[in-house]
Amino acid sequence: MELENQIALVTGGGRGIGKTISETLASQGAQVYLGGTNLETAEETAKSIRDKGGKAFAICLDVSKREHIQNAFDLIVGEAGRLDILVNNAGITKDGLLVRMKEEDWDQVLEVNLKGAFLCSQLAVKQMMKQRSGNIVNISSIVGQAGNAGQANYTASKAALIGLTKTMALEAAPRGIRVNAIAPGFIETDMTGALNEKIREGLMGKIPLGKLGSSQNVADGVLFLVSDRADYITGQVLNINGGMLM
Ligand code: NAD
Repeated sequence: MELENQIALVTGGGRGIGKTISETLASQGAQVYLGGTNLETAEETAKSIRDKGGKAFAICLDVSKREHIQNAFDLIVGEAGRLDILVNNAGITKDGLLVRMKEEDWDQVLEVNLKGAFLCSQLAVKQMMKQRSGNIVNISSIVGQAGNAGQANYTASKAALIGLTKTMALEAAPRGIRVNAIAPGFIETDMTGALNEKIREGLMGKIPLGKLGSSQNVADGVLFLVSDRADYITGQVLNINGGMLM
């Protein structure tokens, strides 16, 4: 097992891509804390991991609330004594064309997707600096690199996450901490499941590998980046997009 005895926090770990990331880290021996705004969903996922012999616990964590983040870190470090892996996965969309986008929709998306990752990372890096080791992975997006009409707020947050990743990587590297980002393309989740056939067909024409990605594709990227196999990789963006953007 590649992550035996490691302590991990996955924000938004209860469902979607975060759920698969949590399951994958736990399958490699990590003790995973699944942060969620919906504690019931996070607990359901944590229980299913425990039922398979893994170590997983749900914690109440809304990344737009500073006190939640502080409480979650106090709980994890109090209980486990350390934090080895942070995956900033929590993310939301509030789409709309630029000219009609409400200021509150801009603020909310930046608050969760970017500021949430900043606040979690700040506490994680402080702890990891004491340990002189640790790994952070930020889940960005292909649209943070390419743009996407109707997603000014989301694309700005995901592009900024890449800048944050590189700066954190520079600041934390001397203490043995690695920070990387993953930019998934279109991944088969509840969100993309709602796309109609016509939009799906249009998408396929733009993906050289001819299919949507799976949440497992993203989780495997996270596992690689936090494992020792990637111990000379920091400040990078791993594109997992079927060749859609090169
Ligand atoms: P999802 O909506 O299924 O999951 C998002 C998770 O974030 C949920 O667990 C949700 O509870 C959590 N969350 C939302 N607001 C939160 C908050 N304030 N505090 C804590 N948690 C919060 O979406 P997903 O497709 O699984 O997306 C996961 C990540 O991957 C997101 O950052 C998303 O932007 C990114 N991403 C997804 C795709 C895709 O095609 N699905 C592509 C690129 C990037």
